[in-house]
Amino acid sequence: MISEKMYKLGSNRSVIRELFEFGKKRKAEIGDDNVYDFSIGNPSVPSPKIIQDTLIKILSEQEPTAIHGYTSAQGDPSVRKAIADDLNARYETQFTADNFYMTCGAAASLTISIRAVITDAADEFITFAPFFTEYRVFVESQGGKLVVVPPKEPDFQIDLKQFEESITPKTAAVIINSPNNPSGVIYSEETIKGLAAILEAKEKEYHREIYLISDEPYREINYGKVPPFVTKYYNNSIICYSYSKSLSLPGERIGYVLVPNQMKDWQKVYAAICGSGRSLGFICAPSLFQKLIAQTAGLTSDLSIYAKNRDLLYKGLTSLGFSCVYPDGAFYLFMKTKESDTAAFCEKAKKYDLLLVPADDFGCPGYVRIAYCVSTAMIERSMAAFAKLADEYK
Ligand code: PLP
Repeated sequence: MISEKMYKLGSNRSVIRELFEFGKKRKAEIGDDNVYDFSIGNPSVPSPKIIQDTLIKILSEQEPTAIHGYTSAQGDPSVRKAIADDLNARYETQFTADNFYMTCGAAASLTISIRAVITDAADEFITFAPFFTEYRVFVESQGGKLVVVPPKEPDFQIDLKQFEESITPKTAAVIINSPNNPSGVIYSEETIKGLAAILEAKEKEYHREIYLISDEPYREINYGKVPPFVTKYYNNSIICYSYSKSLSLPGERIGYVLVPNQMKDWQKVYAAICGSGRSLGFICAPSLFQKLIAQTAGLTSDLSIYAKNRDLLYKGLTSLGFSCVYPDGAFYLFMKTKESDTAAFCEKAKKYDLLLVPADDFGCPGYVRIAYCVSTAMIERSMAAFAKLADEYK
């Protein structure tokens, strides 16, 4: 016997993976340059050279048993201190190594955090459309229920009234993601303040902590507007971070959970994070990459290419008559479909070898996600195909 739930999860590919696989097949048929694959959020910018140099230095100077051995379950103190120092310098916070738990990327940070705060099978986790589709998997696989607040068009900030109405005595946590995948929007300070005020009031009303789980793999990929640092606005914040996007290291699986010390009983919550990591089998995050981050915390890849791609794509698509959300950050453009059937629109796009992700699973039918972490040349080449797609609706 196997778990039907896990079987389904393992055998049904996500729409994004499905498209990505289709793209690979199509490229083999008609050539890489003729397929405009905007399906997946794999950084197109390489890590800075210092990353490679530091890795080589670690590998050549340190003892292999030390490089590849287990670290403490929560991560080596040196990497946790380096991260604390970097954040303190950038955000005027007062974190120490004790606030950090190293993980295998944001996905692990999220599953660990969700598991740490779930108290009952009926617990609810609120998120906001459009949302990263894996939240449903992460919450439901821990036995929780994902509650989705509908999108607020046209700015895709949070509808605070609907949010307030969605909180119940069963709400364990709220999951936010800013800069957002897939909308590219950064939640404003006003939004975060409004969210925090509602959460504080509801905590008092229901006599339970409601945690704010902030998923921040795109924190540094912003084009001028810096995302508000949530621990400054709400004490019961848990930050889930990863180096997958900012340092272009998605395959290396390295990130952290931050439990701030202004949280009441933060050491207890931190212990629950450790327990949750343990129960999920995350003994320690990859040791070599912990050592790398200990020396490079705070650095990023050259993110300027994403800004260039954003401008090119936004200008190109709006001048063709497509309606798009102006992205503040991340590397996704959210575009309105020209017909209400999102799947039909995406199929038409496929005729021109444009691979666009329908946003239905992100909780936002009528939109597509365009991942512009691709070469600038591909965006330039794709414009003729987008023009043909626009012509279909004239
Ligand atoms: N959260 C969001 C919003 C993402 O877009 C992703 C990956 O694309 C993740 C979490 C998972 O990140 P990681 O690869 O670090 O596990």
